[in-house]
Amino acid sequence: MPTIQATGSQPVCGSPIGGPFGYPPGGVLRERGGVAIHSRTGEVDFAPAESPLGESGSSANSSVERVSQLVRDGVLSHQPDCPVCGSPRRQLEPNTARRNRYIRAIPLVTPMRASEIVDVLQAWRCENCTTVYCDPWLSRSASAHLFTTGFGQHYDGWKVLHESVSNDDGETHAYWREHTWARIDAIAGPVSAYAELNCPFRGLLPYFRRNEVGVAAYRRFARRARRSARSRRRHPRGILGSLRRAFDVRPPDASSFLQSAGESGYPDERVLVLEPSAACWGNNCISQGVSCQSLASGLLAVTLATTDDLDHDDRCFDVAVLTQLDHFFEPMAVLERFLARSRLVVVACHLSNYFSKQHPYAFGPGIAEHFRSRGWSAVDLTRETVHPAKRAVNQCVFVSQQMRISS
Ligand SMILES: [Zn+2]
Repeated sequence: MPTIQATGSQPVCGSPIGGPFGYPPGGVLRERGGVAIHSRTGEVDFAPAESPLGESGSSANSSVERVSQLVRDGVLSHQPDCPVCGSPRRQLEPNTARRNRYIRAIPLVTPMRASEIVDVLQAWRCENCTTVYCDPWLSRSASAHLFTTGFGQHYDGWKVLHESVSNDDGETHAYWREHTWARIDAIAGPVSAYAELNCPFRGLLPYFRRNEVGVAAYRRFARRARRSARSRRRHPRGILGSLRRAFDVRPPDASSFLQSAGESGYPDERVLVLEPSAACWGNNCISQGVSCQSLASGLLAVTLATTDDLDHDDRCFDVAVLTQLDHFFEPMAVLERFLARSRLVVVACHLSNYFSKQHPYAFGPGIAEHFRSRGWSAVDLTRETVHPAKRAVNQCVFVSQQMRISS
């Protein structure tokens, strides 16, 4: 397994700016230390005169010094070897990352400046397995700040959930779900026990539920869940009144909704496996007052389980779909745990051509070949599960150590 240096245990109080990494938690609008966060747009700017990068002459040296300082401060951590295969052979990768909401959040939780993030978090492509990864990247403690106080919500997950409710994802995620499930059913069917990891919305769970209860019931329940959450904010009768009401509010009753599900042909057992990671949103992921885990339990009829729970009950799965594998510092260890207890695993993460800095790495086009080099059966079905008119931004690799997958 690759060695990952974790410098996050270093004391961070040596930061020249103070606080955990210099700044108070996310969303605070202010101007400080050369960083201006505009209250209207939320954009983060940096005053160029203070930038240690991008200057002529000593820019290379100052860049190295800047990274060294951030490593000493426990903000960054070096990743000299590929986090997937452990190979040190690599080439510099052109920086194509655009400033997204996560990159804009990094200055809120670290002393890094918005203008330097893309350059400092340099991307490399592994010459062995084609993974693209950052060296350096955020230390584990800095990453934990990003995924909690910096931007503590899995934006893409909630986006695809809302699209499944509003019925406007027909050409993208819905296409992927339909074709991926058809392939799973053909290769590993019948599927009784089914698992996903951490995010309940990015995989097939909404697809199963929506199809088996019907679009109208699915949308009604989703609206009820959101209405229930919003109602507590509409009645702020002082602090005590708000608190009492917040505790009084119950999630919408799912019983009638659950009864409407008949024989569906979809998995009977649906488990959302919760694995903590400093590079993942975890329990923190809440939208409109509802946690994704609560909504998954009611709306999607999912059972939540930790890895310890699975070990205790000796649980195995026919199929596990992993959309969050690229949010773990040691992805192969997580994948091996799922391979050991699942007949088939589907790896469905961002492709390396869609790599941005909120991930420490992204699997490349050679990942199926790398899986095969480990002795597993693996087939890359990315292209056939992406709508013909759309660019592939997520991969879809079927992998198993218990069965032979024929393409
Ligand atoms: Zn590699």
